Amino acid sequence: MSEAALACDGPAAALHALVRELYPICRSLTGDGVRRTLAALRRLAPLEVHEVPSGTPVFDWTVPDEWNLRDAWIRDSAGRRVVDARRSNLHVVSYSEPVRRRVPREELLRHVHALPEHPDWIPYRTSYYARSWGFCATQRQKDALVEPEYEVCIDATLAPGSLSYGELFLPGSSPEEILVTTHVCHPSLCNDNLSGLAVTALLAGELAGRPRRRGLRFLWIPGTIGSLTWLARNPEAVARVRGGLTLNCVGDSAPFTWKRSFRGDAEVDRAAAQALRRLGLPHASVEFSPWGYDERQFESPGFRLGVGSLMRSRHGTFPEYHTSADDLDFVSGEHMAESLAAVREILRLLDANATHRSLSPHGEPQLGRRGLYRALGGDGDPEAVQLAMLWLLSLADGSCDLLRVAERSGLDFDAVARAAALLLSHGLLEELPAARGGLR
Ligand code: ZN
Repeated sequence: MSEAALACDGPAAALHALVRELYPICRSLTGDGVRRTLAALRRLAPLEVHEVPSGTPVFDWTVPDEWNLRDAWIRDSAGRRVVDARRSNLHVVSYSEPVRRRVPREELLRHVHALPEHPDWIPYRTSYYARSWGFCATQRQKDALVEPEYEVCIDATLAPGSLSYGELFLPGSSPEEILVTTHVCHPSLCNDNLSGLAVTALLAGELAGRPRRRGLRFLWIPGTIGSLTWLARNPEAVARVRGGLTLNCVGDSAPFTWKRSFRGDAEVDRAAAQALRRLGLPHASVEFSPWGYDERQFESPGFRLGVGSLMRSRHGTFPEYHTSADDLDFVSGEHMAESLAAVREILRLLDANATHRSLSPHGEPQLGRRGLYRALGGDGDPEAVQLAMLWLLSLADGSCDLLRVAERSGLDFDAVARAAALLLSHGLLEELPAARGGLR
């Protein structure tokens, strides 16, 4: 394990405890499970809970009816619950409409989902936008359904209510904002996405009250409809966003995957690469694709906010994904703590990053005359800062931010940032505002 992770023993225990606490809650796109989850996260970070009524139009979509599940089962002729939602909330297809009747076996089997290749796992299925009912069971449970008829019950309400999401804005000294979002709509699944919920809540709590240049906006939202709802309700905040990241599947033992923003070279893409490298965390980088989580909405043509996605295992590619095997043993506090350290570093770099233009662009300015070499003193790495000054002055045509200067020079980001501060204080550079879409 890397040094970054070893330094994070405290968060590791807290992260796993939070995931354990949230694991039994039956979450979905809407409903009391999401509210209970957000209430638990509020103990860690002072987030605000928004309620948006069912039927509210959001772009091409509509906030759906609210779904709440009380109980669900399949009973055999002896009255035994052969499938029982009290044992796992994955047993019910999320957003199932209520049902209670006797069903012939053949018909019931069409409503029972299982995974023949993993006969002891329960799959996770949803039916958000098409009214139907269904159960998920292990293949062994499904194979044991041999009686001619069963009684089924899904005691749920699917009725007008509201969609709940959590939001925490930590202001900065500039109007620019960075988004950090994670989806809250999955029931008892740990990597996807209790790990993301836990990491963002702990980090937001840690960063609240600290000074920063760029505002940080944390969102805990149901997938797709939640990001669309936030985007539709907050045009002013959207206009201030200069990039961000979505977090999912950050609790398992796989190396990191960074999914790039739509354009692939947004500021956050470079911040993520630099952060993971600095922390010595092995990672792969993959191109943007229009599936996955809310980065799809943030990067749609009408927004292009410059949002990438941090994962460990990639959603949809590991066998445990969307099954009961994505459980408390599949994630660890240490891996979540490592993920937290990675996000913390990405945000630190985004906050420190800036683009400059030289105010003395005709040839090299004379640094010795200005006492700039003396100003380096002994702190940090004076030689690196001196080199960084030359690189900065050479690249300061307004097209390179500090992350690019660090990349191109091979120098440490902090040395580059220190050099920029010195040059700014001597009137040799000016800072330019950041472009939309996280581009520089
Ligand atoms: Zn998922």
